[in-house]
Amino acid sequence: MKRMLVIVVALVSMLVPAAVPATGRPPAPAGAANPSAAPLELAVDATQAPRKLIQARETIPARPGPLTLHYPKWIPGEHGPTGPIVNLAGLEFTAAGRTLPWRRDPVDMYAFHLDVPDGARRVEVALEYLAPSDGKFSAGPSTTDHLMVLSWHWVLLAPPGANDDIAVQASLRLPTGWKFGTALTVTRTSGGLIDFAPASLATLVDSPVLAGDHLRTIALSTAEPAVELAIAGDSEPALAASPQFIAAMRKVVDEAGALFGARHYAHYTFLLTLSDRLPFSGLEHHQSSDNRFGERALIDDAVGRGALDVLTHEYVHSWNGKYRRPAGLATPDFQTPMQGDLLWVYEGLTQYYGKVLAARSGLWTAEQYRDNLAQIAASLDHVPGRSWRPLADTAVAAQLQYRAPSEWGAERRGTDFYNEGWLMWLEADVLIRQATSGRRSLDDFCRRFFGGESGPPTVKPYRFDDVVAALDEVAPHDWRGFFRQRLESTGTHAPLGGIERGGWRLAYDGERSPALKDREAAFKRIEMGYSLGLRLGTDGRIVDVIPGMPAAEAGLGPGMTVVAVDGRAFTPDVLRQAVSAARPLHLLVDNDGTIIGATLDHHGGELYPHLVRDQAEPDRLSDTIAPRTANR
Ligand SMILES: [Zn+2]
Repeated sequence: MKRMLVIVVALVSMLVPAAVPATGRPPAPAGAANPSAAPLELAVDATQAPRKLIQARETIPARPGPLTLHYPKWIPGEHGPTGPIVNLAGLEFTAAGRTLPWRRDPVDMYAFHLDVPDGARRVEVALEYLAPSDGKFSAGPSTTDHLMVLSWHWVLLAPPGANDDIAVQASLRLPTGWKFGTALTVTRTSGGLIDFAPASLATLVDSPVLAGDHLRTIALSTAEPAVELAIAGDSEPALAASPQFIAAMRKVVDEAGALFGARHYAHYTFLLTLSDRLPFSGLEHHQSSDNRFGERALIDDAVGRGALDVLTHEYVHSWNGKYRRPAGLATPDFQTPMQGDLLWVYEGLTQYYGKVLAARSGLWTAEQYRDNLAQIAASLDHVPGRSWRPLADTAVAAQLQYRAPSEWGAERRGTDFYNEGWLMWLEADVLIRQATSGRRSLDDFCRRFFGGESGPPTVKPYRFDDVVAALDEVAPHDWRGFFRQRLESTGTHAPLGGIERGGWRLAYDGERSPALKDREAAFKRIEMGYSLGLRLGTDGRIVDVIPGMPAAEAGLGPGMTVVAVDGRAFTPDVLRQAVSAARPLHLLVDNDGTIIGATLDHHGGELYPHLVRDQAEPDRLSDTIAPRTANR
């Protein structure tokens, strides 16, 4: 998953046969990927998706006696108990022609108990998913009048057993004229009805379907295993991806192959949703990824530039997170709680290589890479919450952190294992490059840890010791101590060793980088963190203050709204101008209806982060983002 907000700390029934060109996979050879003989049947009717209602009927093989069915709770890639059970409705069970009474477990809200009558061999379940217009990730807004990202875990109850051992025969009915993309194998399309080949419950839930009336697919690699990009948008013009973007996406596939040396998918589909109605986010899957950008992300550079690395981030997860998975996250079913202690590898290393591949592929320029790195380094270097909360705890508590508000983020800490993971793994990379005089790098660790034999999806769990051992094989070092120190210590400063050993240093001046301007525009934010210790919306609402810095010292806090600056009504430009005058500022602030005054004692003008070259060290940072493949 990709954290949604980067700037602060731092996502009908159809009798008429419509032309529905499937972009799902062609049928697999007979006998392949068919986990068991009597599959669970799941028929989903999404014809009312535009009005946010999805209906399903499920046929579950069963034996007479007590039966407990579970609504999926712990959703892979979301690292938390995020199954949207409040949106489950219309529940009705029948067996042997009778309606069955049911009761919810009084302790486990996701468990439903019923008794299967004598003579019955299956239970029929009818249910509805009330698609929301608010929320996060797959539990958030996922449908508009023109498109839908269908997550199968919304619309099923799971019988007892391991997800890998439960076979599901699924079908999906779409609104008239809608096309679709998915990593699932399609056996038949007829009108708006799609039949999928039987798949395990794990694979089904890991394979969302992107559908819509404005949808196109682009082949990124025709060599086996094939890779494609399916784009759905709220309008047809939104789909006009530039040749440069498509070329860079093709290079992403090549660069990932050069990096990992193997591919653990039979085929891969980037699902890309372009809508202003769905929050910006990304969610990884083994053979696909669910990427959600603004409607104009592919046609408006300012909207798109800051978001494109989500595509590389989620793609890296096919190797790091899906193929190799921390033991605590490799749970057998959706009810077993996940343990996030190794998310600094799962997400942190993916954050690192997501950015590196964005640069190696040309989705980003080297300057964009450095400007984004400067922003996260500066942000993490201004986190007083580091003094009470070690990085490791942000990973252990990930299931809480994703739900945390952005207010007081610098004091609380957020999902810092992403961006601090970037800093930490950068440091590991340049350390290996330095120790081996450039002969080896973190790429060699990736090839060793995530490579091996290419083939269809499998999961190889790992533990901390496995990471240490693989790094030691690449370049002997006290890797256990290296990570423990960075994970478990509390202090005031971010680990900037990777930038410094990489031949650069973090510096501040009055100029905003283009990357910062893009992020401010995309999120309607003003970044005054490094001058006033203040982050606010373009409407003046304070998002966060950094304890110990001028805004916090003057008594300001999140939720207040700046209404005037030095006697002038607030606008972003008025504030910037006042700060650049390099003398104390007087603000009028609306605090829940009461107007208060505050004087901010800052004389340093505007301050924004940059990376500046340090000639005393070789430019190892640039080596880390140099492409490894020739252009096609
Ligand atoms: Zn992720």
